Amino acid sequence: MTFLPSCRETRERLTDYAEGALSVRERALLRMHLLICSACMAFFRGLLTVPGVARFLLTPDGSPSSEGAEALSAALGRIPRHREKD
Ligand SMILES: [Zn+2]
Repeated sequence: MTFLPSCRETRERLTDYAEGALSVRERALLRMHLLICSACMAFFRGLLTVPGVARFLLTPDGSPSSEGAEALSAALGRIPRHREKD
């Protein structure tokens, strides 16, 4: 039996999730939580608009970071898909 992280645990880890800092297993668990929890999905979408996350998307001079944008779009693109095998 695999236990999904709680809403609080999920929200605490969303930044790491967006940055690809979690293990494959942790990402899979967070993704499953986001799929079944519209509140956390909304929180995640909102998180992407706050300065703490925008910082990793932008270079110091304020121009878009293609690396950060790719990492984020990859993270977002994985959410709706089926669970990957570890
Ligand atoms: Zn939740």
